[in-house]
Amino acid sequence: MLKKKSFGTFSALTAVCLLLLSNASPSSAHTVSTTSGSCWSYLGTHNPSTSATFKYHESVTSTYKTANANGIAKWKSATSSKLTATENSSSPNTILEYWGTLSPYYAYHTVTGESGEHQTSWQIDYNAYKMQNFGSFRDVIAAHEWGHVWGLDESWCAQVLMYAEIGDGGGTAQGPHSADVTGVKTIYGF
Ligand SMILES: [Zn+2]
Repeated sequence: MLKKKSFGTFSALTAVCLLLLSNASPSSAHTVSTTSGSCWSYLGTHNPSTSATFKYHESVTSTYKTANANGIAKWKSATSSKLTATENSSSPNTILEYWGTLSPYYAYHTVTGESGEHQTSWQIDYNAYKMQNFGSFRDVIAAHEWGHVWGLDESWCAQVLMYAEIGDGGGTAQGPHSADVTGVKTIYGF
């Protein structure tokens, strides 16, 4: 009985490992099978791999370069360096800054190219008008936008980073919450 049970556990572990391995290949257009969990849901597309690249549009000032870098660092820290991003002038992905007095958004992420479920190109726009008094909370907004790069959709749980109204004072997250991390782990299989 005990022996049989152990064998069963071993088989289940092997199956899980194979699944993780099949999900780990960054270049193949993998399909995310589990698309939601407690307080997280899948956007439907994600950056092709766990290491992203980006370039800064000439509009981006040092304030938003810092916020963007800090937002990236929050994900790196929360995922034991599994999710990383580096600046590369030939990247298809662009970070922009604009002065949107009429825009309702603090920032937004747009998928500008996709193949299967992969975001082959995307951009993040930071609204310097809306965030001018935010201080270090800009880092949190940047991390939220990077959450979309990693494939997370908005959430209606106020405690998580992907809370839809994170900039409106209703959210409490200062970085990725455990639910956000569970989401990206499920999406990438790490
Ligand atoms: Zn969002």
